Amino acid sequence: MNRPRKILIIEDEQDISRIIKDYVTINGYEALIAENGRDALLALDSWQPDFIVLDIMLPDVDGIELCRQIRQKSQTPILILSARGSDTDKVLGLGFGADDYMTKPFSLSELMARINAHLRRMDSFGAPSPHEDRLSFGNIVIDRKAYSVTVGGKEIALSAKEFELLFYLSKHNNQVFSKAQLLDAIWGYAEYGDESTITVYIRRIREKLEADPSNPVYIKTVWGVGYKFSLDDA
Ligand code: CA
Repeated sequence: MNRPRKILIIEDEQDISRIIKDYVTINGYEALIAENGRDALLALDSWQPDFIVLDIMLPDVDGIELCRQIRQKSQTPILILSARGSDTDKVLGLGFGADDYMTKPFSLSELMARINAHLRRMDSFGAPSPHEDRLSFGNIVIDRKAYSVTVGGKEIALSAKEFELLFYLSKHNNQVFSKAQLLDAIWGYAEYGDESTITVYIRRIREKLEADPSNPVYIKTVWGVGYKFSLDDA
């Protein structure tokens, strides 16, 4: 039997953290609660969670800042919980290395569905596939085993989801995908998803990858349809 997956819940409000813990435990996960940023970072090292649910309002550190600190040490998927609802905050949350975002009050079944989807995607993504581990186009090399991307030999730092999106597009190079298809392929929950997530991720990948992000060489916008990875018409 596989070991249960471990979910770290970073939240100081005990009524919320307990409900989440109970719910994910019933669904076969192991859960640990950290009530502040310090405990969360300790748990990250000692407990090695498979998934992190991070509340933005914490007593000792801003959740966004904590998200950034976690991302410096770990690629574990992070879902941010927030009472703030504006799109600006959503974009900000994703910009600091979070993989997903939910606004309070949230539905436990939707939270569970998203956690399941992230972990399922990671499983299928991590599955051995010897012929497709290393893709190379022009001067860009995308190595799935090492989760690394180099352009002209220079390593580019991408978050896990940025990497997966780039890898997916490049693996199917010259094929056009809609935002909904990409959301479904990488996040796995098109029915819940917000397609602007894809726009944000594509922009961030371009900013890291492209010499001129507004005139991209690798990921092309196909107006009215979506995106494709293609060097052909560069
Ligand atoms: Ca809180």
